[in-house]
Amino acid sequence: MLQSKLFYKTTKEISEEEKSINAQLLVRAGFVDKLMAGVYSFLPLGLRVLEKIKKVIREEMNAIGGQEILMPALTPKENWMKTGRWDTIDVLFKMEGSGGKEYALGSTHEEIVTPLVKKMVNSYKDLPVAVYQIQDKFRDEPRAKSGLLRGREFSMKDLYSFHADETDLDSYYEKAKGAYLKVFRRLGLDALVVLASGGTFSKYSHEFQVLTESGEDMIFYCEKCRYAQNKEIAEYGAGDKCPKCDGKMLEGKAIEVGNIFKLKTKFSEAFDLNFLDKEGKKKLAVMGCYGIGPSRVMGAIVEVSHDERGIIWPAEVAPFDVHLIALFGKDEGKNKKIEKEAEGLLESLQKAGFEVLYDDREEVSAGVKFGESDLFGIPLRLVISEKTLEKSSVEIKERAEQRVELVKFNKVEKFLKK
Ligand code: ATP
Ligand code: MG
Repeated sequence: MLQSKLFYKTTKEISEEEKSINAQLLVRAGFVDKLMAGVYSFLPLGLRVLEKIKKVIREEMNAIGGQEILMPALTPKENWMKTGRWDTIDVLFKMEGSGGKEYALGSTHEEIVTPLVKKMVNSYKDLPVAVYQIQDKFRDEPRAKSGLLRGREFSMKDLYSFHADETDLDSYYEKAKGAYLKVFRRLGLDALVVLASGGTFSKYSHEFQVLTESGEDMIFYCEKCRYAQNKEIAEYGAGDKCPKCDGKMLEGKAIEVGNIFKLKTKFSEAFDLNFLDKEGKKKLAVMGCYGIGPSRVMGAIVEVSHDERGIIWPAEVAPFDVHLIALFGKDEGKNKKIEKEAEGLLESLQKAGFEVLYDDREEVSAGVKFGESDLFGIPLRLVISEKTLEKSSVEIKERAEQRVELVKFNKVEKFLKK
């Protein structure tokens, strides 16, 4: 990708009301654009990151037997009336269409997925089922001041599982928990598994929480064995002995990046999702649901991984692997050579499978180019200039490191691979 053609604009100043670090850096770097509080456009750089986060999530959901579907975001009132949630979900966006027909924009999809799965399930042989989607959800959040952490329209991966009995749900739930930990590890997030209230369905649910000052949740966690509880339900306090080991419970702020629930039969009852068991008896299917917010995850990564100069993306979600920068001088002849070497390197790196953003702009100063590169947070920066050309080399620097290395043109690919 040529930076001269890239649809973006970096800015130094952004609106006063944008207080959160993730929004400030993502807006300044031209990854997202704010339309209104809690609603953002994803620009090419930001979209690449979001899609990579979704890719990791997809791979891990597919690995536990999840099948991807896509349900509508526009949903009929009747379905929400069946579960009573038309009146109890306070953040539900409701609207009226022609003929007085009422709708909600999906804030979660139990009301849609349960009647859908009912159409496919007759006997125990049709179970278990696990389907998921990645889609924008809508919630009329009262406070939407934390950038991507709390959107009114935001991306969610929601998986729903359906089982013949609770034992099967329990074992799938544990598998999903493992898959979630893999997702967050791959995304470079150190997520704690936190015991939380189960909503109306079950005594407990599990949240995946990332410790950071910008978090809106308070949790207690053991410094030694990482056992953790959300403060809202906690049976323990800061300084108490850990209930699982001889460690001590600490208190901290955290961002909830995922949440898994055992829904049991709450929704299968409402939609009469039943099946015939081995003995030919009618039974209600047992459900679980599993959510991750890819856009919140993107914000969370920025919150925990940045410095005073900009974002530092973990390799797996960085918009590009390599930021190749050509620094042009006053000498036309040398500039031609710089351009030729840079284009050759771009081609060979792309052939070798690297995703490269090439800063090919001629009228832009080295200071501006380096400033933008640090703001973008691409893991590796490669610079070709008059100075490096003399040594048939490029300067290579990792975003998070100070050290710069000179590497010969013909050794670059090998160097990057290791
Ligand atoms: P919170 O308590 O932070 O409002 P929640 O518990 O209501 O979140 P869930 O219904 O469990 O959220 O949604 C599943 C996941 O979707 C969350 O773990 C989070 O990653 C993401 N998510 C929820 N609400 C938002 C939001 N307003 N903006 C961005 N992501 C969100
Ligand atoms: Mg939650």
